[in-house]
Amino acid sequence: MTDQNGKTDIAKLSAVADRIANDLMETEEWGKPSSLSPKMQGIDTHQFGIAIHTAEGDTVTAGKADAPFTIQSISKVFSLTLALEMFSGKVWERVGKEPSGDPYNSIVDLERHEGIPRNPFINPGALVINDLLHKAERDDGGKTNVRDLLNSLLDGEEVGIDDEVAQSEGGSNFANRAMANLSKHFDNFENDVEAVLKDYVDQCAITMSSRQLARAGRYLMVERADSDDEAAKRRARRVRRINALMLTCGQYDGSGEFAYRVGLPAKSGVGGGILAVVPNTASVCVWAPGLDDYGNSLLGTEALARLSEEMDWSVFGARSH
Ligand code: GLU
Repeated sequence: MTDQNGKTDIAKLSAVADRIANDLMETEEWGKPSSLSPKMQGIDTHQFGIAIHTAEGDTVTAGKADAPFTIQSISKVFSLTLALEMFSGKVWERVGKEPSGDPYNSIVDLERHEGIPRNPFINPGALVINDLLHKAERDDGGKTNVRDLLNSLLDGEEVGIDDEVAQSEGGSNFANRAMANLSKHFDNFENDVEAVLKDYVDQCAITMSSRQLARAGRYLMVERADSDDEAAKRRARRVRRINALMLTCGQYDGSGEFAYRVGLPAKSGVGGGILAVVPNTASVCVWAPGLDDYGNSLLGTEALARLSEEMDWSVFGARSH
């Protein structure tokens, strides 16, 4: 919902965010915590936070918007951003752009497609992206790893890392190790598997709050580029493409259902966070650590469905003028 100048109605947005946070605290079904680590498994799932950063620079929050959680697969948006900045179209020689229809940690497609993962947002794809970034250097002063990129997107505010979660990611790492090795078997993995896995696990264990993630996601809103600013046009084009992948592949094999219900590009992580983008309008992060059967935050998805409905925010067109 915007006013006649296209600006978000902040009073309405605050009221909507508060109502969603209050309503969700009353629900009975909170989903299951991730079994990725004992710490995550033991989390109180009865928690919810939302933060919305608008294109005009306003921030609206409700619930536990400052609670830190591990960003897990949301980090894959930022690693893809770095890879596209550094290698542009060459990235797509190593990883596909298609929804997988399989769980995030599935290995089956990788053999069928001879070591080329279906997309950068499932584990095999993210591992290949991390392989690309592992020894990458750049001379334009840009960042080469997710943690540094996030710190710069937060204007120097430092993100944390949950060492306990990073260290106990043993279980999923057997599968991740197998995926990386299978890609290596097909000549689609250059570096030492263990070294790349460490980068990957560390980036997944970065801790941020919903408020911080919504702020870090501002660049995904797509800045309108001046017609003669080539660099800005390139950035805008890149962001559109990242958004397209978030829409089609961002919620594992629940991406179709999510697009149907919410209608916004988004990326979830098994820490319970979801980063969503309302192009040209807002960057949103919700967090509720109980997950649905796909590994997406159950109440986070519900919150985004209500937000897009009540604010009339959908990439598939507005209901009203
Ligand atoms: N670190 C997790 C893994 O590799 C990330 C899973 C996710 O959030 O999708 O299994």
